[in-house]
Parts: sequence; C-alpha cells; structure tokens
Amino acid sequence: MLNQLTISELTAKVARKEVSAREVMQSCLDQIGRIDGQIHAFLSYDAADALAQADALDKVVAGGAAANRPLLGAPIGIKDVLAVKGQPLNCASKILGKFVSPYDATVIQRLKAAGAIVFGRLNMDEFAMGSSTENSAFGVTRNPWDTSRIPGGSSGGSAAAVAADECLAALGTDTGGSIRQPAALCGCVGLKPTYGRVSRYGLVAFASSLDQIGPFTKDVRDAAMLLEVLSGVDHADSTSVPQPVPHYAAGLTGEIKGLKIGLPKEYMVGGLDPEVNQAVQNAVKQLQQLGAEVIEISLPHTDYAVATYYIVATAEASANLARFDGIRYGARVEGSDPISLYGNTRGAGFGAEVKRRIILGTYVLSSGYYDAYYLRAQKVRTLIRQDFLKAFEKVDVIVTPTSPTAAFKIGEKSDDPLQMYLSDIFTISCNLAGICGVSLPCGFTANPKLPIGLQVLGKPFGEETLLKVAHAYEQSTRWHKEKPIGKLTRR
Ligand code: GLN
Repeated sequence: MLNQLTISELTAKVARKEVSAREVMQSCLDQIGRIDGQIHAFLSYDAADALAQADALDKVVAGGAAANRPLLGAPIGIKDVLAVKGQPLNCASKILGKFVSPYDATVIQRLKAAGAIVFGRLNMDEFAMGSSTENSAFGVTRNPWDTSRIPGGSSGGSAAAVAADECLAALGTDTGGSIRQPAALCGCVGLKPTYGRVSRYGLVAFASSLDQIGPFTKDVRDAAMLLEVLSGVDHADSTSVPQPVPHYAAGLTGEIKGLKIGLPKEYMVGGLDPEVNQAVQNAVKQLQQLGAEVIEISLPHTDYAVATYYIVATAEASANLARFDGIRYGARVEGSDPISLYGNTRGAGFGAEVKRRIILGTYVLSSGYYDAYYLRAQKVRTLIRQDFLKAFEKVDVIVTPTSPTAAFKIGEKSDDPLQMYLSDIFTISCNLAGICGVSLPCGFTANPKLPIGLQVLGKPFGEETLLKVAHAYEQSTRWHKEKPIGKLTRR
C-alpha cells in the first residue's frame, strides 16, 4: 500500500510517474478513514486541500519541472503547534478558539518548496506540556500498538500517525523529549536537531531556549532527507545558526568502524525497565559488532537534569504564555474590566497542567525566589552542557535508552505529575545542553508487544555522525520494518 512507503521509496516513483501524488495522498486519507477513529492522531484535516496540493504537484511532474523537490509528493502531517497558512492552530488548547494561521512557519515554507504535501493538525499535549498526549483539550491519542496505552508526548499525534501509516512523515517539536519519547513509544524514528539548526519562526513557543522542530519518519534515511530540507539559517529567527547544511543522506554509508560510542554510567538507573535495558544492551553489542568502540563515560550532573528543566521550562513558559490574554488571539471570556477579562479567559481557556506550569514558572521568576531557583537552575544548566562537551572530547556519540519504560496505560500517571515528569529522565538533558538526539526502534517488550527506543545523542551540529550511527544500526536490524498489528489494521 502506498501509505506504507518511506519517502525515499516514494519520491523516485512519483518522479518516474509510476505513482501520482494524488494516489499517495488518497491512500493516506483512506488509512485515516479506516483507523483514525480508534487512534485519534488527527485533530482535523482538510482532505480537499491536501488533494489539491497533490494535483498541483502532479502537474509539475507532468510539465517536467519536478527537479530539486526532494520530498516530491510526500504527505507530511503537522503537529498542532506550527503555523500553516489558512489552517487552524490550537496547540490542543481551548484558549486559541477558532484561530487560523495568517502565515506559514519557515519549516512549512521549506516543506512546500521541497514538494511535500503539508496536511492535517496532529494532536499533542496542550502547548506541548506533557509526556502522554493526555493533556490535550481535545481527547487523548492512542498508541497504535495497543490502544489502551498512551503514544507518548507531547507530539503523540505525530508519532501515532507515522507509526499507523496515516502519513509518510510528520513534524513535531521537542523541548524536553517530545519528539524522541513518542517516537520510541510508537516505534518510529524521531530526531531533535541541535538548538539553532532549524528555524523556530511560526512555532508557538513553549520554552524558547529549549524548543526545536524535527521530523518523525519510518526510517533513518527519511529523517536525514527531512532534516536537510528543514535546516539552515533564517532571518526571521535570530537563534537559527548560519552553519552550512550538509547533504545528510549522502553521509549514510553504513560504515562506523572505529567510531567511539559513549555509555553514560549515570543512565543505568533504578526504574529502568529490565526489557528496555536488555534491548539497549543488545543494541550496544550490535554497534560493537559493526566496528564501533564502546567506552564508559560519566555525565555527573545527570541527577539535576529533571529539576533544572522544570525550572527553566516553566519560567520561560510563564512568560511566553502571557500573550494569551483574550485580547490578541482566539477565545475570549468577557469580564467587567480588563483584569477580570484576562482572568476569565485564562481560567476557562487553559487546562490544569498548563496552569500548574504557569504558576510554577511565575514563582521561580518572582523577586526573592529568582536567585534561589531560576538563576541557580541556569548555572546547573551550564554544568550539564559542560558534562556533554567534555564527554564529546572522548566519544563521537552517546547511546542511552530513550524512555525508561515502554508505553504506559492511559490514566496510569495522569494524577501524578512527578511520575510523569520522571518519564523524561533520559531526554531532557539533551535540550538543556542544546545538542542533537535521535530515537530509533531497537526491539519490543514481550507481552504485550510494545516498541522500545534507542537514543543516540550527538555533538552540537553533529547530526551527520548521529544519523550515520543510527542508520548503520537500523540497517543491521529489522525492527523498523515491523508494523502495529491486530484489529486496528486488520480489514
Ligand atoms: N514531557 C516534557 C514536558 O512535559 C517535554 C515536553 C516537550 O518536549 N515539549 O515538558
């Protein structure tokens, strides 16, 4: 079925006119019609618009002008936090009401220019705050491998849609793991680029010093192809970095002999599920067999990462979310004066987790507490970054589990925010340090059968090496070829 293809398989077929963009798009829409009622990855999608984009691409191919469109005809789903002109933008929150984006985010402009079909609004935790997609104001997304379980979060809709073949790839965002963790839990590839690699223009900010946009794909080659399209400096985002963009897919040689892989001793912690641990140990052995050298390293400030993150991220969120005041965007609940209008709108518009974060963030920034919490967290953040930079003097990449457990049950952690926060333990440091990371499938739990993710972390702007290692491992296994089975996909 066309919706099961990878982008690299598809684009060649479209360019040779063996397959039309319309046929591919239709096959994704058919799959959504068949199964999204059970998964709820999409908040909405505009089928007519998606097919019109496909037809326009088919005209380009017919006219012989399809060159330089590396994503030709690939339907790509979009997390509901990125601006797509003319489409709703809600961040899975009630507070944005009927807001429609007036412009395209830079990443969306780049996808369109590369010949992708940009479609759909994918579910997420409200304002990207969460690890399970249960914080969406519009209902939970279910894991395609077991619909009684969460898909991870906050980009749960993106991960579930790719895993269930509802689109060929998707965009998500990662502030503390929101691409890598759901990719791990749904069995796809999720890449968080180095801070500054991809423009954030048109992304609704959660924590601006941590947020990055990245791809969800069915294999590592597609992640490389998408990263190449998304990357590069952008004058609309002053934090995007003018580093040259390598031809990432060309670096996937399969050759990793002599590369040095670091295993952080602090990551083999209690709370790590034995099956996850075993799968990661097996992956490390596999990498050794492929010729890599494995070295134990130390990241001594790991213990402070979760606490540091929940100070920095909430502080930035409390400032960023001040703009949702009932005046400028979306929904409004009237009041007798401006202050009560703000209060009424925000009280009715934000969900419980978003309110918790705004309150925490306001507290750590308030005078008298700023030095004790926010300033100290910034200093620890620097130490965490230095841990990584020091480790990368000895090794080329670092390998860890992505998540301490496979997908948990819906409702299992939703009443216990601390337990939920701890599920980010392996992904958060990467954002604090501003480095890059990818999660890819490395096995399954036995009963029930649930995907397990391997995380590979790389140096700042070291995506080439990161992808090379991930690809060499992937190509020596069959994990990425497995599909969710059961009543979901049985027709
Ligand atoms: N789960 C983390 C949080 O709740 C990370 C979220 C993210 O990366 N957007 O903040």
